[in-house]
Amino acid sequence: MSASDTASESATPIENVVIIGSGPAGWTAAVYAARARLDPLVIEGGPSREMIPGGQLMFTTDIENFPGFPEGVDGQKLMADMKLQAERFGTRVVTDDVVELDTSVRPFRLVTRYSGEVRAHTVIVATGARANWLGLPNEERLAHSGGGVSACAVCDGALPAFRDQVLAVVGGGDSAMEEATYLTKFAREVVIVHRRDSFRASPIMVERALENPKIRVAWNSEVVDVLGDDFITGLRLRDTVTGEESEIEVGGLFLAIGHTPNSAFLQGVLELNEAGYVVPAEPWRTRTSVEGIFAAGDVMDDYFRQAVTAAGTGCMAALEAERWLAHGVDVEAHDIPAEPVASES
Ligand code: NAP
Repeated sequence: MSASDTASESATPIENVVIIGSGPAGWTAAVYAARARLDPLVIEGGPSREMIPGGQLMFTTDIENFPGFPEGVDGQKLMADMKLQAERFGTRVVTDDVVELDTSVRPFRLVTRYSGEVRAHTVIVATGARANWLGLPNEERLAHSGGGVSACAVCDGALPAFRDQVLAVVGGGDSAMEEATYLTKFAREVVIVHRRDSFRASPIMVERALENPKIRVAWNSEVVDVLGDDFITGLRLRDTVTGEESEIEVGGLFLAIGHTPNSAFLQGVLELNEAGYVVPAEPWRTRTSVEGIFAAGDVMDDYFRQAVTAAGTGCMAALEAERWLAHGVDVEAHDIPAEPVASES
């Protein structure tokens, strides 16, 4: 099998492996697949209002928790370097979106928005997820400019700009409790802004948060504006019961109002959970409900959601795809080729 094969009924190229997505999961899968001589094709996604090639890290300025960068690394630089590393081993890249994945035929048929069709023996879905935002103009502007608005406390909370500040967390689920508790390591005070008078988070997480002397809650409150020019200075809140508006001063805003996986095109194709995340066929594997299709990164992970875990599952998906291609069938955990081509050295 080679990338130069073509489907007999047309000139559609047949790929060994097509990787959909260009975040840490996609590029890591590409590095491994390319080094395994699978000649992978990455369909990296097209720029849109919500997403750009490279994924969520393109909106993160300093990444301090990706191993190997003692001084931290800029998100855009990290993604550009991952892409270069994948290309160095021959990965080909198309800037386009996959709008349809047809698993009723083998090789699978992928339809892109602009560049026609591709056929593939295996597919790695690494389309990621996007954090949900409130949709306020200043929130978006400051989030994209590094102005103190973030949807990931673990990624950004330790940045010097947030030290000893009053920080706001919006949401009432487990993420909000976890992020608020985490932020108390750095903040002077954390205000959880929640639109109702009770949390949906699990009792133990609520207990832990409310017992923390640095955390207070603005109940029945919704954010109607984010204040500040270059950096956030405050929030305008509206009481959801009385409608009364007020302002609070904050030095950072963290959204914890859920994520949406980029899996709309997989509805009815792969098994997805209620929230739209791809369900792996078994724990610690990336294979999905359709043999030959693997998933990696945030599109299949609603729990860890870290760049480094996404990269890890990208590696797993490429190794599984390689072994599936070699055997033509899924292999058991211990049925591993003696010398996989994609070694880490
Ligand atoms: P979630 O449970 O869906 O909670 C989202 C929260 O954001 C809700 O409180 C919701 O308010 C609020 N919200 C949604 N849209 C909003 C809007 N437009 N404006 C204001 N508030 C809004 O999401 P999550 O907390 O990210 O958790 C997702 C899943 O991951 C859950 O199953 C959770 O248990 C799990 N998780 C587990 C852990 C852990 O165990 N360590 C940590 C994090 C997440 P309402 O309550 O009013 O709807």
